[in-house]
Amino acid sequence: MSKIRTILDVIERKKTGTIPVIPVTTKFAVSRSPYSFDECDSDPQKYVEAIVESRRRFGYDGLWTDTFQGITAVMGKGLIDKHGRESVTGQSTIQEPEDLPNIKPFSIDACAQLHMRIETIRALKKAEPDEPVFTIIDNPCMVAADLMDGANYYYHMLTNPGFIHEMTEIVFEPLQKCTEMLIEAGADVIWLPFPTLGGTCISRKHYEEFCTGYNKRFNDFVLSKGVHLIVHTCGNWNDRLDLAVSEGAHGLHIAETILKDAKKDIGGSVSLMGQVPCVPVMMNGDPEMVYNECLDECLTGAVGGGFILSPDCGLSPKTSDENIKAMIEAAKDAEKQLAGKC
Ligand SMILES: [Zn+2]
Repeated sequence: MSKIRTILDVIERKKTGTIPVIPVTTKFAVSRSPYSFDECDSDPQKYVEAIVESRRRFGYDGLWTDTFQGITAVMGKGLIDKHGRESVTGQSTIQEPEDLPNIKPFSIDACAQLHMRIETIRALKKAEPDEPVFTIIDNPCMVAADLMDGANYYYHMLTNPGFIHEMTEIVFEPLQKCTEMLIEAGADVIWLPFPTLGGTCISRKHYEEFCTGYNKRFNDFVLSKGVHLIVHTCGNWNDRLDLAVSEGAHGLHIAETILKDAKKDIGGSVSLMGQVPCVPVMMNGDPEMVYNECLDECLTGAVGGGFILSPDCGLSPKTSDENIKAMIEAAKDAEKQLAGKC
């Protein structure tokens, strides 16, 4: 069976005998390349070279495209942001409902980032056809919060909920269109991060009120395109992992939870990815600590299949080579120990 099929089977919670090791390497790989972040940001060929070379050098699995934030860039570009400056990124430009009429109409042609991401996905598929391409996208709620500014989004949760709903609806369709094009370009797994709209930032009640409905709708759309979907519950989501599961993704990339409990409670509904602590273990730990933590997670998470070993968030560029090797070694040893069981 091809490697890519095996990894997709793991995401579908099938037993494959393997534990893929898939760190989020967007920043890490670029930091190990001869190129700067700016160079990779503006030149898909350089970015692809960085991603592919790093994967080959260390031997982990999977390829990544950096977060798609093109809707914010087009719809807020040129507007005045919260600092009183003309915005290039579009972030923090829709501060009040009165700003809504100023929002720029979305156009595919004007979205340079979309075309760069499409080129990146195609080049990754060409370079390594048997590796799954994970495509990171800010979903509609994240885009709304980005345009409004995170703190301002929280403020309006309490003072003007209708503004948030209106904003989220405005970005929904353009984002669907872009997502469809990224999938058509060859994205294998859509990976949705929630750094600012999850358990560490807003209450369960607010999450249900402002996110769950849109997340379900957006996830349904992604799944209707036949692609695989993983939601990254960035931070502590222990009071709402059930909600995240109900939103329909194939898998959750978890953090800050008790893996044994998560496996028991939700492992029958979603595959799990994670959750080696990025900073205390992967970045600051020694290889022995990394190995022990990773082995333990694999032996807990991979029983019955459906587990991908990964740090609990993006891999820090300061992670040592030895620690990455220890992570991969632990997964290989766990595969042997779990023979026939994972
Ligand atoms: Zn995260």
